[in-house]
Amino acid sequence: MYKTNCLESVISLLFPRRCPVCKDIVIPRGSLICPDCMGKLSWIHGPTCKRCGKEVISRDIEYCFDCTKHKRTFDCGMSLINYNDIASHSMAQIKYNNKREYLDFYSEAIYRKLGPRILRLAPDILIPVPVHPTRLKTRGFNQAEELARRLSLKLNIPINTSILRRVKKTAPQKNLGPSERLRNLEQAFVASPLPPRIRSILLIDDIYTTGSTAEACARVLKRAGAEYICVLTIFIGAGG
Ligand SMILES: [Zn+2]
Ligand SMILES: [Zn+2]
Repeated sequence: MYKTNCLESVISLLFPRRCPVCKDIVIPRGSLICPDCMGKLSWIHGPTCKRCGKEVISRDIEYCFDCTKHKRTFDCGMSLINYNDIASHSMAQIKYNNKREYLDFYSEAIYRKLGPRILRLAPDILIPVPVHPTRLKTRGFNQAEELARRLSLKLNIPINTSILRRVKKTAPQKNLGPSERLRNLEQAFVASPLPPRIRSILLIDDIYTTGSTAEACARVLKRAGAEYICVLTIFIGAGG
């Protein structure tokens, strides 16, 4: 399980792969994560919110607290792992320490655990949540796009990075209320009209917390002609 291919195995002889959880060299060689660290991640097992995919405490709860409180323009959501300290540490390594190789593990895990569901949905394209061009310049990559590229190859679904763009850097959102936060975010994204054959979108991001980024992107994409939008993330904040 979670093995790399042949060429990657040769590369791993020269540059041993590091574990996305403990940062040590992964043993056995060729794996993408230490067997013990697999169990340290808080995998989503459900029950989950029927809208966003967040874990909820009982099967009797249809929607999480955020989804009952706020308008949802996206149609569905799915995620892999609960966002806790371990997840946050791993994500920070990817984003700020250029550990893009960790996304090999996360994309493979998404493919194995959520692949059949994604293929049943049969989205026309994968769209990563974009970052602002100046942030892209300083960081050098967009982790959502890196994830989407890996998934595109595995799922054989094309990725599109030109329809949805981020035109505004968002100010720190901490002091804003939910509706101001959303308005602020909505103005940050623009979407070009969708080509005629593209109606169903899998929107990809690294993490889903309150859902405001996904909602802002979904609003502009629906105005651009999208009919169905599902949000896919590696991590998702705790449910309610
Ligand atoms: Zn490990
Ligand atoms: Zn929800």
